[in-house]
Amino acid sequence: MPKLEDGSEQGLKGHFKEDFSHRVREGLAPRAGHVDRDAPYKRIATEEAWTFPALVKAQVAYLESGEASNDDSLKMAGMFAKMPSLQEMLQDLGELRISHMDEYGIDRQLLLLTAPGVQVVRPGDGTALSREANDIAAEACRKYPDRFSACAAFDPRDVEGSVKELERAAKLGLNGAVLNSHFQGRYLDEPQFLPILEALEANDLALYIHPTAPFNAPHYEGRGFFGALGGFPHDVWLHTMGLIMSGAFDRFPKLRLVIGHMGECLPLHLYRFDWMQGNADGRPRPLIDGGTPIKLQHPASYYFRNNIWITTSGVGWEPAIKFCQDVLGPDRVLYAMDYPYQQSYDEVAAYDRMDMSAEHKKMLMEDNSRHVFRITG
Ligand code: CA
Repeated sequence: MPKLEDGSEQGLKGHFKEDFSHRVREGLAPRAGHVDRDAPYKRIATEEAWTFPALVKAQVAYLESGEASNDDSLKMAGMFAKMPSLQEMLQDLGELRISHMDEYGIDRQLLLLTAPGVQVVRPGDGTALSREANDIAAEACRKYPDRFSACAAFDPRDVEGSVKELERAAKLGLNGAVLNSHFQGRYLDEPQFLPILEALEANDLALYIHPTAPFNAPHYEGRGFFGALGGFPHDVWLHTMGLIMSGAFDRFPKLRLVIGHMGECLPLHLYRFDWMQGNADGRPRPLIDGGTPIKLQHPASYYFRNNIWITTSGVGWEPAIKFCQDVLGPDRVLYAMDYPYQQSYDEVAAYDRMDMSAEHKKMLMEDNSRHVFRITG
């Protein structure tokens, strides 16, 4: 492992030809450190991205057709398609990826089809591509059973096709399902998507809602931060609160929802959500369901402690993690790296150094993800 001037090991910064490492500034980024090779826990990283050539081709072809000119998520796919070393890492489900996992000390990755996924391709093509994605992911899990688990892709624009594909994915042994948040400004809290929520619950598949470029991206893009600095967390915030306020978890009490990036800032607001819930309870929601008033069975915070889990992807920050363990419960916070977008050897080392009980550390790094995503082995 090459050594940097400060004595730390180089890690994957050296693998990235499109230099993402310039983003790591001083501030709160973790200090240099060494990954504990004998840690008393497995590191299961739960928001690790991948894609495959047919999907990238379909995204680029639809983008270049000009027929979906207002879809900023599709534009984001076009941007990622032009980054060859990123694509090399995203598209590898074998030796390259495993060599990087070994370098970082990651025992297992939970594979999520990267944003924006199949939900931005030409309408009608998404379900076939999700089937191909799920077959590829299942094969990788079969080939490397102790290194990979995977969430299933689906295209929610095809509700009937999604329900069938989720059933098939569960039979394939996949560990959950992933949606890259909104699809052309639609969200799963709209009533026509209820069969998808029902299928997720019936097939015991946790739903991971991962960010994509927000629907109103120009507001963000015009200020230079459609991604992690604003657009990404805000869109998942809307999706999550929409599901809660729609009564989805009252209707499907065993539905499991996972959101990344420290719960996209939502846990910090639980107190206020409960305080202000009266602003929404019993009021019509004309944009969503024609104005049928909904009154939740529980305070909003209840759903964060019973139906929602969060991952730490991209936020290897001890005070934030401990706050969320405290207010949500130590069983509700899961480790994630966000490979290959945010990679830091020092960040893995920072998790090893975090000052928390051995029990809570093991729950964070390993046990909680086994439970939520039904990971064995
Ligand atoms: Ca991610």
